[in-house]
Amino acid sequence: MKIAVVGMGVAGAYLMNGLSNDHDNYVKGFERMPIEDHDAVCAWATCENIMEDLIKECGLEFNDYILHEGKNMKVDMGQSGKEDNTINVGLKGMVTYDKIRLIKDMTRGTNIQFGIIPKKENLESEFDLIIDATGFHRNYLPRPQNEMWIPCIQYKVKYQGKTPFDDFYLKAFPSMKGYFWYFPLENGYAHIGAGDYERKNNNVFVDEFLKKHKCEVIKKVGRPVRISPPKNSEPFTDGRKTIGVGESIGTVYPLLGEGIIPSTWCAQLFIKHINDFNAYRREVLKKFQIYALVFKFIQMKINGKFNIFKNAAEVLKIYNHMKNEEKRYGMEVKLKDLIKVSRI
Ligand SMILES: Cc1cc2nc3c(=O)[nH]c(=O)nc-3n(C[C@H](O)[C@H](O)[C@H](O)COP(=O)(O)OP(=O)(O)OC[C@H]3O[C@@H](n4cnc5c(N)ncnc54)[C@H](O)[C@@H]3O)c2cc1C
Repeated sequence: MKIAVVGMGVAGAYLMNGLSNDHDNYVKGFERMPIEDHDAVCAWATCENIMEDLIKECGLEFNDYILHEGKNMKVDMGQSGKEDNTINVGLKGMVTYDKIRLIKDMTRGTNIQFGIIPKKENLESEFDLIIDATGFHRNYLPRPQNEMWIPCIQYKVKYQGKTPFDDFYLKAFPSMKGYFWYFPLENGYAHIGAGDYERKNNNVFVDEFLKKHKCEVIKKVGRPVRISPPKNSEPFTDGRKTIGVGESIGTVYPLLGEGIIPSTWCAQLFIKHINDFNAYRREVLKKFQIYALVFKFIQMKINGKFNIFKNAAEVLKIYNHMKNEEKRYGMEVKLKDLIKVSRI
């Protein structure tokens, strides 16, 4: 089979790695960024407990890419009278890693054309199967009806001497419309950024932070992150040759805007069901079912329709999911923290 993989993010890289060794296939990758500018626009935080096994499948050791191992994440919930509104979340596997170096190593030796946005008609005439792994862009699939995304900006910075924080830090914006992040990399480097549904707080807060904590700005990037889950991101196919994998079909955990692990899982499911689109669709919807509930919760918060008493059952379900999956999220999950978060 002739397969085109469009987009070399985590999903595309995993697919290139997994499909290129099968001699029954001819696999070609496409990436819009030129090779020298190819980057992973992302804060590079993930959970090593899960990544370890996923990356082993690609013949690599995740450990070799870790930049910072988190111990504690301070989450500032903003002012609330005299109450201390800070949560300290114990971390058990949350790390930052060199995401772009890992993508390059996962795709080493595979056939990729960089610096090109291929035309759909050209792909359709040349390939039997086209995988849209273009993340937020979703250039090759019909637009979903009810999608939602959070605009984000991010700086890669370097501090000389003391850094503002020595571990993960978040500041939540009102009504869960987004948050500011400070994620340490290594040797004084950090990712500082913010996502805000209303675009009100992200620039202001990041600018103030950069003014207060002087640093060298290495790079500024911006792109939205899709938070509507797979259930709201159908169709996964154009009904002809193209199928979506990764963030293009909504595999991002909406509460955290965390898409590295879910998008890699999605690519794994795709490889498993490469010859059966219906089975792939079913498994994706099943695997990411809870994301639909979490998304509903975020939507209610953003639209001012959330009520802690009326919606207690939803909060409890989200808590149970995350508590049972502490190892997957790489953090300690406490009900009182989730209730605090749902009250901002
Ligand atoms: C600012 C920001 C910070 C984030 N931080 C985190 C984090 O810390 N941890 C986490 O888990 N998730 C994070 N996310 C989400 C996460 O980055 C994504 O959900 C995840 O990378 C999705 O993987 P993907 O491979 O599906 O798509 P992407 O990683 O978006 O990759 C898509 C690739 O396709 C290329 N492309 C796009 N259009 C075309 C085209 N037409 N032709 C060719 N190539 C194309 C792009 O250049 C890119 O290389 C963040 C998102 C943002 C925006």
